[in-house]
Amino acid sequence: MNYGMGGSFVTRYAGICAALLLLAGSVETAWGQPASLEQIRGVAGLIPGKRPLRINVLKFAESRRTKNFSVKGAPAEPSVQARTVYQVVYPDGYVMIDSGMDQQVHKFFGRGIEEPYDAEAAQQVQKALRGARSIVMTHEHGDHVAGVIRTQYLDEIAPKTILTKTQVETLMANPQMPEIKLTAEAAKRYVVIDYEKYFPFAPGIALIKAAGHTPGSQMIYVALETGREYLFVGDSAWHMDGIRLMKGKDAAWVKEDEDAVMGQLKWLNGLTKTEKNLIIVVSHDDEQRKEYIQKGILGGALE
Ligand SMILES: [Zn+2]
Repeated sequence: MNYGMGGSFVTRYAGICAALLLLAGSVETAWGQPASLEQIRGVAGLIPGKRPLRINVLKFAESRRTKNFSVKGAPAEPSVQARTVYQVVYPDGYVMIDSGMDQQVHKFFGRGIEEPYDAEAAQQVQKALRGARSIVMTHEHGDHVAGVIRTQYLDEIAPKTILTKTQVETLMANPQMPEIKLTAEAAKRYVVIDYEKYFPFAPGIALIKAAGHTPGSQMIYVALETGREYLFVGDSAWHMDGIRLMKGKDAAWVKEDEDAVMGQLKWLNGLTKTEKNLIIVVSHDDEQRKEYIQKGILGGALE
C-alpha cells in the first residue's frame, strides 16, 4: 500500500527503527512482554533538542455514563468521562496529542442522549491544531481523531498530522463511525509512520505501541526539561481506578483485545508502585484531570 508522502517519512526513520529493534532484542508484539521504561526513556532521548517545558489539557465535551462501564465491578454511580486534548509546549512551538471532534461525531457517541459539548472549547482545539508544529494520536477513535479528519482546515492540519500505519488502516477499513472513514486518497495527505515497539517522536517524546483498546492504540511518553515524566495512556483505561485495581472496562460496545488491555493495566499498575516521578494521564478520567490542574501537573488552558 502506498501512503504517498508518508513513505518518505518512514524511509527517513527506517535506520533509527532498525537500530531500536537491535536495542530491544527480539521483536515481540508490544505487549507480548512488558514494555521497559528504561528503553522508553532512551528512545525519548534519541532526537537532539530542548525538551518540553510544560503540558496543558483542554476538555471540550463530556460523556455521562456510570462508573461500572469504565471499571468492571465499580458501583453504577454517575461518572463524568471527559473528552480531552493535550498540548506539549516546547520553547519554540508545541505538539498536540489528540485532536477533538466536531459536534456531529459527538452526537454519535451520545446515541440519542444529549451530552455536554463545549463548542467554544472545540473551536480552541481547532485553533491549537492549526498552530501546532505536529499532531499525534493516542488512537483512531472518533473522539480523538475526528479533529484532523473532519475539519475545514484540512489543508493546514493534515500535512503535520502523524498517524501510524495501523491507525490509517483501521480508519480506511473499519472506522468507528462512517464520518471518520478515510479514503486511500485522503490518507495520502497525512504523514504515516510504522514502528515495531517504540518510536522517537520528538525531543523528550517516545511513542509506545499499545494495540488493545484499538489496533492502532499507542501510549505517549513525555519527559520535560524539568525531569518530570508523563505517560499518556489514551483509552487503555477510562479511569485511573482501572489501573489502580487492574480492572478492564465493562462496555460491550467497545471491541477490545481484552488480554492485551489487561497486560497494559498490569504494567501501568506496576509503574504506579515503582515510578514516583511518572505521571500517568488517562484521557477520559475527569477527576484526575481536575486533580492534575489543581496541583499544577497540567495547565488547564491551551496557549
Ligand atoms: Zn476515547
